[in-house]
Amino acid sequence: MNNTNLNNKTIEIVSEKYNACVNCKLCFEACPMMKEYSSSPKELMGEIIEHKSVDKNIPYSCMLCSVCKSKCPKDIDLKEMFYNLRKDVMNSDSKNLKGLGYNTIKFHQINSFSPIFSRSYINNNTKKIFLPGCSLSSYSPEIVMKTYDYLKSHIENISLVIECCGKPTLAMGDEKKFKSYYSKLDNIFRENEIEEVIVACPNCFDTIRNGSKDVKVTSLWSVINEFKIPNELINNYVNIEKEFSLHDPCPIRYEGKIHDDVRTILKDLGVKVVEFDKNREKSECCGAGAMVRVTNPDISIKQTKKRASEAKSDTVVSYCQSCCESMMSVGKNSLHILDFIFNEDVINKKKFAQNKTSVIHKWKMRYKTVQKGKINKF
Ligand code: SF4
Ligand code: SF4
Repeated sequence: MNNTNLNNKTIEIVSEKYNACVNCKLCFEACPMMKEYSSSPKELMGEIIEHKSVDKNIPYSCMLCSVCKSKCPKDIDLKEMFYNLRKDVMNSDSKNLKGLGYNTIKFHQINSFSPIFSRSYINNNTKKIFLPGCSLSSYSPEIVMKTYDYLKSHIENISLVIECCGKPTLAMGDEKKFKSYYSKLDNIFRENEIEEVIVACPNCFDTIRNGSKDVKVTSLWSVINEFKIPNELINNYVNIEKEFSLHDPCPIRYEGKIHDDVRTILKDLGVKVVEFDKNREKSECCGAGAMVRVTNPDISIKQTKKRASEAKSDTVVSYCQSCCESMMSVGKNSLHILDFIFNEDVINKKKFAQNKTSVIHKWKMRYKTVQKGKINKF
């Protein structure tokens, strides 16, 4: 085993949680990864404290999904602990990073921040921007532009920023690199005196509200619920028998208003929604959280299959494109909520599933989103 020595601050964090834990194992039953490494969280934490070190695979199997916290009678946040363990591994000898796939993530991030795949189209008088996020831009340039057109029709002087928030680097625990990446987005906000950013991605929502405290972060679903869906789509799906299982993404598990907004939009559309037993605050990870698809693919796929099997219909709908893609990776039909509003095939009821696409195709779509943004900027 290739253990990483931990710094005193991290040991303190683990000890604090160890002392507070009553070993009820409620978190353990729900967690997608702890069973692979121990027979209880208390035992796992005890071993870490005793050895003052950790097997790097343990924190890099944690999906940082916070299901543990949602179950814990003592409100213990194991996500925070595992994230600190990740940071210690990241700051240790670089040989410890071998086998975690970090080079793949670095490659993704270098491309994401390059001018080929990112661009800001800022109107001089703008105070609000729309940030579609990487995964939606890689899925459908058409849907991104139609969403932006919709926002332009309701919000004066809104601008379009096609940038990455740096969450993959942050999730890996590389805070130094993350700060340098994130400063690009933060500088866009500061230089243009942006007051509000409207995000389509739950990871962007989480990253920006923590990274840019002076900027208001609003979920696209709250905006659509405020201005309402286009009139012609009200009850568009009411005569369709098909049901859709609604998956709530874990980065925003405590955002009850967003959960409500999404459900109201789907109701207005006439979509028949079936809930997962574990939904909203109790939602489970799609399996792709915190880059575990790269750092521990076996555990990641196992969780995705589990989550997909808990759906009560053959198609999952979500409001995170990464979750949709995670579901598709195990053969589950999937749709993004924006497909119901801006995808012609879905609107015309020809098709109720996204196509599974290659990595190359996704980069091509991302490039196309940047190009379409240039034409459609104001
Ligand atoms: S954050 Fe998720 S994966 Fe990590 S320990 Fe908690 S429940 Fe398990
Ligand atoms: S739910 Fe909380 S108290 Fe119970 S085992 Fe997990 S961390 Fe400990």
